[in-house]
Order: sequence, then structure tokens, then C-alpha cells
Amino acid sequence: MSSTSKRSDIFPLYGNRRLARYIRSGGDGQAVVLCGPEGSGRHTAARSLAAAAVCMSPEKPCGNCAACRKAAAGEHQDIRLISVPEDKTAIPVELIREVRAEAYIRPGEAENKVYIIESAETLKEYAQNALLKVLEEPPAHARFVLITEQEDALLPTVLSRCRVFRMEPLSAEEGEAALAALRPAAAPEARAAALAAAEGYVGPALRLLADDRRREVAAALDLARGMANRSEHEMALAAFLPDKTSREQYGTLLDTLTEIIAAAVEIKCGRRPAAPAEEAERMAESMSLGLLLRLRDTVEKARSEANFNIRPQTAAVALCAALAGELSM
Ligand SMILES: [Zn+2]
Repeated sequence: MSSTSKRSDIFPLYGNRRLARYIRSGGDGQAVVLCGPEGSGRHTAARSLAAAAVCMSPEKPCGNCAACRKAAAGEHQDIRLISVPEDKTAIPVELIREVRAEAYIRPGEAENKVYIIESAETLKEYAQNALLKVLEEPPAHARFVLITEQEDALLPTVLSRCRVFRMEPLSAEEGEAALAALRPAAAPEARAAALAAAEGYVGPALRLLADDRRREVAAALDLARGMANRSEHEMALAAFLPDKTSREQYGTLLDTLTEIIAAAVEIKCGRRPAAPAEEAERMAESMSLGLLLRLRDTVEKARSEANFNIRPQTAAVALCAALAGELSM
């Protein structure tokens, strides 16, 4: 069980049970296509497959051996990533010819060598035909992992040589488990909303959560700065929330504000908080401990009321007034 959790730490592929089983079984097909939208786990799965091919332990990929670590860091000499060159819009046929020639050379340190071909949908027909030659009769040590957004951009002859896995969206349960591990600080409701908006794919869900969090965290920091400056104007600007702000987002703002005030209390008591914010230091400098505790209570009260049926925009204005009241402005 412990090796399973270590494995998922280094190659966190969520859901996709059939593919995960295939990787655990050693993933010994010589050519695999991983098909799915961006953020669906294709690259993680490809790295995991590649690690399984070079791993030195019986249980592959173990996630612990030198080969797995190099694979995870993108530093294994027998794993080569083929991407669209920066100045091009497609993988050129020359690059595929180079891969084809190189594939016959024995691996340097592992038993196998792996080519991960990103954006395989950009391969023109002649480039795919060039690839097909090595897929038809690959040397025993060579493995190919093709990553693509569109399965139908690949020739049927290429697909017929590959084992095709379509990345699956995560169920609500799998998604919550994944996001809880990756974003433990986000509210479960925010994680569920992000996962639903991202249609079950972790990558875009993480981006949504990051965006929300950045905006709300910034608002909380601005609000704290406004309090430290005793500026009702700055506070009001910070507490002005866009129309589409959800309760979850408002919750993030309140949580962040609570963390900042808690850090200010720590500083005031002569302790060093884990994550000192400049705003917390300024609050501690300019406020008494009693005032900080009253501000904390005010935010906590707002937190408990945030679950009621009040619009976050209205609640934020009320909070701002209550905080200004404590600051006697
Ligand atoms: Zn290993």
C-alpha cells in the first residue's frame, strides 16, 4: 500500500483506472496513444509510463529508484520528449526521422528507451508515415507514447499499431479526492464548483481555483492594508466585489483575512507566524492586541453569517462597515 501512495506522489494520475492498471502492470505495449483535452492527465500518465519502462524495481514505476526520480525530473537519458519546436507550429518530419534512426540505438542506462511525442495531432501525414515505419517493426527496447488532443488527427494505420487510452473525466468523488490533495486550503464547495466547471478534468479545475484564489486573496490583503492605514476608502475599494463573486469566493476572502489577522496577533504576542505577510506586520505595528482580537471576532462573525442567504457583495459592504466601526473611523 505504501508503494502505491509513493507512486501516486511522484506521478499523480487521478481516476483513469484502466490506464492506471495498465501502467502498474508494467505498460509493456510498445506504442501507446494518450488522448484527451489539456489538463486531463496525459502528460502525467506519459511520464508514469516512461518511468515504468526504465524503473529498476520489480514493481514499476516504484517512484523511488534513481531511474524513477530522473524520469520524474525529466532527466533520464533514455526518455526523450519530442515537442513542437518553438519556432514551428508542427513537429517536423525531420525530427521524426531522427527519432526513427535513434530508436534503433541501444538504451544508455535502462532496459528500454522511451519517446514521448507531444501534440501528435500536429504530425502531417508524411511525418506520421515516417513514424509508422518504426511503429510497425520497433526494436525490442523502444517504446512510444503519443499525446494528442484529437484522436482522429492520427492515421488509422498509426492508431492500429498503438494501444489507445482516452483520458476520462473524474467522477465527483475522484475529483474531490484529487483536488483535496492538491488544494487543501480551498473550500470543498469551491473545489466541487471548479471541477464541475472544468467538466471533470483536474488541470483546468486547478486553474479555476488558482484564479479565484488569487483574486480573493488579493482583496483580503488590500482590506488588511486599508485597515492598517486606517483608510476607509481603501477598505471600501477592497471590499467591492464583482457581481459574479460566489459565496465560496467570498469565503476564501474571509479565510485569508482571518489568516492575516491571526498572523498579526502572533506577531503582537512576540511569535513568528508561519507565513508572515507584510500586511500582518503593519497591522501589528499600528494596532493594540485588543483591537486585533476585536477585528478577528468581527471577521469570524461575518464568516458564520456568510452561509445565510445574503449576497456576498452586500455581506462584504456590511463587513467593511463593521471593521471600520471597530477601528472607530
Ligand atoms: Zn522505479
